[in-house]
Amino acid sequence: MASYRGHLTFAGLLGAGYGSLALLEGNWDWRTALIAAGLTTLGGLLPDLDSDSGVPVRELFGIAAAVVPILLFDHVKALCQQSTEQTVAVLAVLYLFIRYVLSYIFKSLTVHRGMFHSLPALVIAGLATYLLYPSEDMRRRLFFSGGVMLGFLSHLVLDEIYSVDFMGVRLHLNNYAGSALKLVSKSWLATLTTYLLLALLAWRVWWSGHQ
Ligand SMILES: [Zn+2]
Repeated sequence: MASYRGHLTFAGLLGAGYGSLALLEGNWDWRTALIAAGLTTLGGLLPDLDSDSGVPVRELFGIAAAVVPILLFDHVKALCQQSTEQTVAVLAVLYLFIRYVLSYIFKSLTVHRGMFHSLPALVIAGLATYLLYPSEDMRRRLFFSGGVMLGFLSHLVLDEIYSVDFMGVRLHLNNYAGSALKLVSKSWLATLTTYLLLALLAWRVWWSGHQ
């Protein structure tokens, strides 16, 4: 399995490249590029949420706490009747909630399951991003969810092929190659839960397009 820093570096570089595609679009500004870059990086760290070490989880919730308020900025501002003070207050609370409360709940609930490192989990991450981004602009939503899935895929591929030790200094074939890009795990319960969640999100995306 590749190291946390290896994943962060690789997904970060991918994110910078992917995010800058937004600037080629013409109508999208630097904010879209930054969000896409952040989401790609986040996607590259997501599978290690089940890691036993607390560092990736803490960093991950730190990044999520920063990215989610940016994503929801326009939405919250509309809810707060365009009041900037109220918007900033709500987003600050949201930041603290994700950073401390949500990460605490998550850490106390999860065990090392293995389904975080799988292709259905990759699709779940993409669908969830699509649903979370509140916008009528379907192309932007697809762009963001594509970023998360790209980062996620980079993680699975890295885990599958390499063992990256601190910035990729030492590369060698992973003895467990073949385990990261799986479709099912040994635990039928984890597999079932994953596919149920996948079906639920897929239905929700389909439904959001037909209302
Ligand atoms: Zn991993």
